[in-house]
Amino acid sequence: MKNLTLSNRQFFVYSIIIFFIFILLGKSFYIQVIKNKKYDSLASNNSQVKQIIIPERGLIYDRNEILLVKNDSLIDLMITPNKITLNDTVEIINFCKYFNIIDSVQINIDTNKYVKIFEEKITEAKKYSKNKASIFIENIPKKKIENLAIQWKGFDIKTNMIRQYEIGYAANILGYTGEINKQELEADSNKYYQQGDQIGKTGIEKSYEKLLRGDKGVKYIVTNSVGVPKSDYRNGEFDTLQNPGKSIMITMDAKLQELGQKLMNGYNGSIVAIEPKTGEILCMVTSPNYNPSSMISDNRNKMYPILHVDSNKPLLDRSISSAYPPGSTLKMLTALIALEENIVSVNTKIDCNFGWRHPNKTVSCHGTDHPPLNITNAIAESCNSYFSEIFHQLIHKKSAEEGLDIWEKYIKEFGFGNYLNNDLYTGVPGNVPNSTFYNNMYNNWTSTYIISLAIGQGEISTTPIQLANYTAIIANKGYFFTPHIIKKICTEQTEQPFVKCDEWEEINENLTKKKSVSISSNYFDYMIEGMERVLNSEKGTAKQAFIKNISICGKTGTVQNMQGEDHSVFIAFAPKEDPEIAICVYIEHGGSGGSTAAPIASLCIEQYLTDSIDTSFVNRSKLSKYWKKQVIEKLNSKLYD
Ligand SMILES: [Zn+2]
Repeated sequence: MKNLTLSNRQFFVYSIIIFFIFILLGKSFYIQVIKNKKYDSLASNNSQVKQIIIPERGLIYDRNEILLVKNDSLIDLMITPNKITLNDTVEIINFCKYFNIIDSVQINIDTNKYVKIFEEKITEAKKYSKNKASIFIENIPKKKIENLAIQWKGFDIKTNMIRQYEIGYAANILGYTGEINKQELEADSNKYYQQGDQIGKTGIEKSYEKLLRGDKGVKYIVTNSVGVPKSDYRNGEFDTLQNPGKSIMITMDAKLQELGQKLMNGYNGSIVAIEPKTGEILCMVTSPNYNPSSMISDNRNKMYPILHVDSNKPLLDRSISSAYPPGSTLKMLTALIALEENIVSVNTKIDCNFGWRHPNKTVSCHGTDHPPLNITNAIAESCNSYFSEIFHQLIHKKSAEEGLDIWEKYIKEFGFGNYLNNDLYTGVPGNVPNSTFYNNMYNNWTSTYIISLAIGQGEISTTPIQLANYTAIIANKGYFFTPHIIKKICTEQTEQPFVKCDEWEEINENLTKKKSVSISSNYFDYMIEGMERVLNSEKGTAKQAFIKNISICGKTGTVQNMQGEDHSVFIAFAPKEDPEIAICVYIEHGGSGGSTAAPIASLCIEQYLTDSIDTSFVNRSKLSKYWKKQVIEKLNSKLYD
């Protein structure tokens, strides 16, 4: 009797201790549930179970409120080997049949085979742990799984939230989510995440992870011996509510992005378009890319290695992570600096003479001898002699070092050589060389060493997004807003499932602050005039991009490179008065800027401004037959099945 009393007392004391440990270290017993419907059972007797409630992730819309990304769930059947009681052969066979455990179309399967496979799977689970849950069957349809925890002891379910993509492109912008890794867990100083949680890995999913993920909730419940919930623990006194993630609207125009991706089919390169008035990124195409749906859940394990070894680098976001020489598209900036530094006036004419000549250096001019050109015509006709000469004079205004550092100062004001402080999670700054850079390279250098910079070649490198931003600065005649991808954040949304956001809040932070360059705004008029002639004059280098009812101002670039055919580049904005879009198209080894990049840019502009492409081409008198055929083919092409 005495012993028994002692035993009861011991039991009571232990129970109290265990109870508090349970509450304090609830984390180690945590179970993930969604919508309070699905449960893991843990205890063999009545017990309190802490449940972490993962909120629904915020949705992603385009600038016209087209839904791009929503949520779906996958369910895994988990097994805890020491808890299972399933041993009756008939029951095992029923269980196996219920879950199609044999992946076969055979009608008469030997029943022993079911039992054998079932036992093999249990042995496999035991290897991991006899007492901890591991995956028994993956990705089970939701319907199959209702109320399962009650049916078979030792089996529980785990719900995994996954993303569902409504579009088959823009993977580089949207990014993807995945299970948190060790480094990410270690970097989580607020201890928000636990092993097994989903986290944004790339793109917007990463940049806006904190907004999209929401706040987890905690619920304590009392369960019976088989893990079936009986009641809330202490009327929910210790519970905290979950907060669903905030939906966001991005600045991307889905239709423009899709068109851009199609037009880039077969090319390696990028298209970036920006709204000059706001810095909003309208599209950010990188080519080749991949279908965002191919990176969902386990698919990623199959797809990633394939994409990773692809020599065309579909995982590389060329719009922000590839730096290229800007070529002749930089000529407006060379001109603006020369004007601001009083090297030339807007009326100064300079001889072409087939190229810029210096005792040690020649920069040839397209095999032509332009008549003496003023600054506007020099842009329209892209005269290398003109820009080499004004750059040479700038560099030797004082010492070469001082001259180059003045140049560097302006170039950087236009957003080159840095990340632009945008809200995209990755990117490269490109390279803007200064005097230190060349002092490390040469003993005594003069303008002839660096003359290629005048025409955007040599050691300068820029990303397509920087070139689009530079174009927006010209369109705005001297200012810009940091290019950004976030447009609005949803403050009122209908919960679970949210169909539509009820109230949007504009963003107004650093991203919407105006940044000005130190060049007089009237000088930009001469550039814009020249850029218009690039498309509409007989000698213009981008006649193919001309479209009768939209005044486009642009500049071609044909960039020589060591690796093969020239890169084709074109920057443009439109309409000339009150610009709504600034764009850069960069095509690796695409040939001349006028022949490849320019028509693509012009089609993107047409799509954005008129919401369609006129395939009768009535307003495109200068578009070649080849391109007309190309456009129709590309519009009908499919993206990343
Ligand atoms: Zn020339």
